[in-house]
Amino acid sequence: IKDIKVKILTAEDLDISKFYRFPDSHKGDYGKVGIVAGSKYYPGAAVLCSNAALQSGCGLCYLITPQEALYFQNLRKPEIIVLPVDGKEGVISFDGFVKFDEYLAKFDVLGFGCGLTKNEEVEKILIHILENFQIPIVIDADGLNTLSSSQKAKKLLANYKSQKVLTPHYMEAARILGVDVKDVAKSPIDAATKIASEFRAICVLKGSRTIITDGDEVFINVLGNPGMAKGGSGDVLTGIILSMIAQGYSAFEAAKLSVYLHSLSADILLEKKAMQTILPSDIIEGLDSAIRRLI
Ligand code: AMP
Ligand code: MG
Repeated sequence: IKDIKVKILTAEDLDISKFYRFPDSHKGDYGKVGIVAGSKYYPGAAVLCSNAALQSGCGLCYLITPQEALYFQNLRKPEIIVLPVDGKEGVISFDGFVKFDEYLAKFDVLGFGCGLTKNEEVEKILIHILENFQIPIVIDADGLNTLSSSQKAKKLLANYKSQKVLTPHYMEAARILGVDVKDVAKSPIDAATKIASEFRAICVLKGSRTIITDGDEVFINVLGNPGMAKGGSGDVLTGIILSMIAQGYSAFEAAKLSVYLHSLSADILLEKKAMQTILPSDIIEGLDSAIRRLI
């Protein structure tokens, strides 16, 4: 049995050194985020994830999303660069996706999964990325569900030679581990460290007390509130993590900082809003107060 250090996540555990902006810096210094997200069915997930990345300070944010998801992008921030891909029945297609290989090589970090849905095309794309690229990757939502049902993707991910962050909620973690969700709920620290060790990744196991671990060290977040218990909250967190990695943080530092800021934003919103009316989009806008309070 391994000796595991468990700690409550506090502001003192966070590295905010990269929040200082040199006067002569330019957008290239703050990194390029690439996001593969969205479908005809969940176009909003892509919007939330990319808006959150942009609002967290990255220099550039690219969104690779199927044509069929574009009908719903009125809330997308205009600063996001969209790369529309040919889809198949509303979902991103492999043939459409590979045309953007040269873009992928230029990203500092890649987000994969929000609102993609799960099918063979998505699995082919995930495998293609893991076989051909070496950029830090954050896998969420349908990226995780695709991983769960693909032994090939699991193996490739374990051997993938770059930084990795996996952001499952309890159900997604149960699918990855092939156990009942009750087992994850019973021992979430075990589940999170198991996922981190199996994939040599940072695991962010999301819940009312989110756990962040590299497999050896465990941090438990105690900020946040049930106003965050709404579809879309997780997509926002993924965008923040991507942005922090693009700005030069390691995957572990980025995960800690992002979980903290995400829930601090939601807590500050409670000063003016009810839990019922807080939306994931508000959490994105609230990042301004959260970042100013932290630095
Ligand atoms: P997802 O399930 O992917 O949409 O992610 C939900 C996000 O909201 C995660 O970051 C959770 O930690 C957060 N969240 C959900 N419910 C609560 C809660 N009751 N208290 C604090 N945070 C929560
Ligand atoms: Mg989610």
